[in-house]
Amino acid sequence: MNKGQELYRGKAKTVYATDDPNWVIMHYRDDVSAFDGAKIAQLEKKGETNNYFNAFIMQKLENEGVKTHFGKILNERESLVRTMKMLKVECVVRNICAGSMSKRLGIEEGTRLPEPIFEFFYKNDALHDPMVNDDHIRVLGWASEDDVQRMRIKTRRVNNILKPLFEAADIDLVDYKLEFGRAADDPSGPLLLGDEFTPDGCRLWDKKTGEKMDKDRFRRDLGSVIDFYREAARAASAFHFKNPPETLMNGTPQQTAGYSSASNNLPRMGEQKFFCI
Ligand code: 5GP
Repeated sequence: MNKGQELYRGKAKTVYATDDPNWVIMHYRDDVSAFDGAKIAQLEKKGETNNYFNAFIMQKLENEGVKTHFGKILNERESLVRTMKMLKVECVVRNICAGSMSKRLGIEEGTRLPEPIFEFFYKNDALHDPMVNDDHIRVLGWASEDDVQRMRIKTRRVNNILKPLFEAADIDLVDYKLEFGRAADDPSGPLLLGDEFTPDGCRLWDKKTGEKMDKDRFRRDLGSVIDFYREAARAASAFHFKNPPETLMNGTPQQTAGYSSASNNLPRMGEQKFFCI
């Protein structure tokens, strides 16, 4: 299996074909953008930081029974993922009020919510990803009623896994965005978690100092963006890498045929040095 042509270039990642149409390479670039692309920059080591951050989280979720598109890490900036047909909605869960919810409802940022709040957004940059409800999604045909329910259930399940994971590292998982879809070769199969889970798409606050450890550092010009991404990864992973997950670097044979030589040269995900570079 070889790296093929560029299929899609997003704001922070590029997707490449492989010679297996059911698998693509997700390449994490150093680019960072905010406000629908109105603010852009390059941050050194962002690509590799997010690649490893995402791999750690996806593997954790897989281990807890959440099906994802993730196959394995290939090198510092690239991971192998299943070719997906994505739904055109974003799922957001909020544990603490921040960002657009604070602005929309006039609620002070940092207000703890008595239970998580779930929101859907329509993926459309030109419209600035407007908030929508179940009816918009179902009636406009973006997803079936069953998939709407599945996305709610899976997103909350992710919260039940990741909130305690960050909690153990003294970090508040304030909110996050997830995207779902189906594997291209299994269109009637299970809904899989796609895209990425990194500090680009969630809010993480240090419980002790209140420091932001996520993309708000870039959005709000707070500086040291990637240092804080790495510190969040280091802190969260420190509790979980005492027994490194075997499959993370090795994948399953059918998932990773042809990639073993590339991955053999890489340090194992379980080594904390990934997050201390
Ligand atoms: P908000 O609605 O407050 O702007 O965002 C809620 C959460 O979802 C934040 O953690 C934010 O980073 C994430 N989020 C919402 N929309 C997007 C998006 O289009 N891209 C990314 N990367 N994250 C998003």
